[in-house]
Amino acid sequence: MKLPPFEYACPTSLSEAVALLASHDGEAKPLAGGQSLVPMLAFRVAAPSLLVDLRKLSELRQIAIADDGVTLGAMVRWRDILEHRGLPHAQPLLVKAVEHVAHYQIRNRGTVGGSLAHADPAAELPGVVVACEAEIAALGSGGPRTIKATEFFKGALSTALAPDEIVTAVKFPAWPARRRFGFAEFARRRGDFALAAAMVFYDEDVAGTIANAHVGAVGIADRPLRLATVEQTLDGRMIDASTIAAASAAASADVDPPDDIHASGAYRKTLIGVMVERALRDASV
Ligand SMILES: Cc1cc2nc3c(=O)[nH]c(=O)nc-3n(C[C@H](O)[C@H](O)[C@H](O)COP(=O)(O)OP(=O)(O)OC[C@H]3O[C@@H](n4cnc5c(N)ncnc54)[C@H](O)[C@@H]3O)c2cc1C
Repeated sequence: MKLPPFEYACPTSLSEAVALLASHDGEAKPLAGGQSLVPMLAFRVAAPSLLVDLRKLSELRQIAIADDGVTLGAMVRWRDILEHRGLPHAQPLLVKAVEHVAHYQIRNRGTVGGSLAHADPAAELPGVVVACEAEIAALGSGGPRTIKATEFFKGALSTALAPDEIVTAVKFPAWPARRRFGFAEFARRRGDFALAAAMVFYDEDVAGTIANAHVGAVGIADRPLRLATVEQTLDGRMIDASTIAAASAAASADVDPPDDIHASGAYRKTLIGVMVERALRDASV
């Protein structure tokens, strides 16, 4: 299908981009890589009167690694993450998750900010930012603000962003060198959106027991979830077969996925338990 008509602007500064969005009373949309927005236009799911292309805003392309964490600019592309030499050490869970995002061509154009703002409930990055307690930086006509990942996602394709706000960056807390982590996803074909995916990390105290367990999940609700019951099941225990089995059971018990055209809720409920089990096995080796 052809796209509906729209005007197009390609600002050279963030303030100009925000002013353009603000001047269109909710009828304008940022354009990042177009990997989700263009299909949405073609299917008439969105029909903005103006597209504000962010591609000339080079300040949104930075990847910064510092002692207090990793900051990704909104226009950082999947490919940039996968090709970065420091990120496998500074934020390995992110890199592992992005390896599962879409196909080569899409990873070449799709962006961090676009994925967060699009808020697909099965997308990997939203799950990682929720699991890691990352913070999302946004700029609108009211000025800059920081939104906790857990408060950013409001439902399927819905976020806390105002119509004139642009995601500028996402910041992940520091990642200790000896932290254990794992990621597991099930999709019908490699590169498809996940039917369910789980991401876990934890530290080990001197006795070797699990501390600070974080468990995220996507594909099982209208937004990415942190599975608090699973985290409570893990903290204070040794990582062994019985702990993994208990965490897996807790994951299935903790969620209530809806039925949709891709899978039944009951199937996804079982699947997330399997994904948590695989992610924990991945973390423990
Ligand atoms: C066939 C296919 C398979 C895919 N598989 C996966 C997958 O397995 N996992 C996955 O995570 N994703 C997948 N995607 C989506 C892909 O990862 C995109 O990168 C992602 O959806 C965002 O696209 P984009 O960056 O090009 O943003 P766009 O398509 O340009 O924009 C998406 C939305 O975000 C808004 N937006 C963009 N940037 C900003 C910003 N900085 N601030 C505020 N709003 C903004 C736009 O207005 C629009 O509403 C797939 C896409 C396709 C087409």
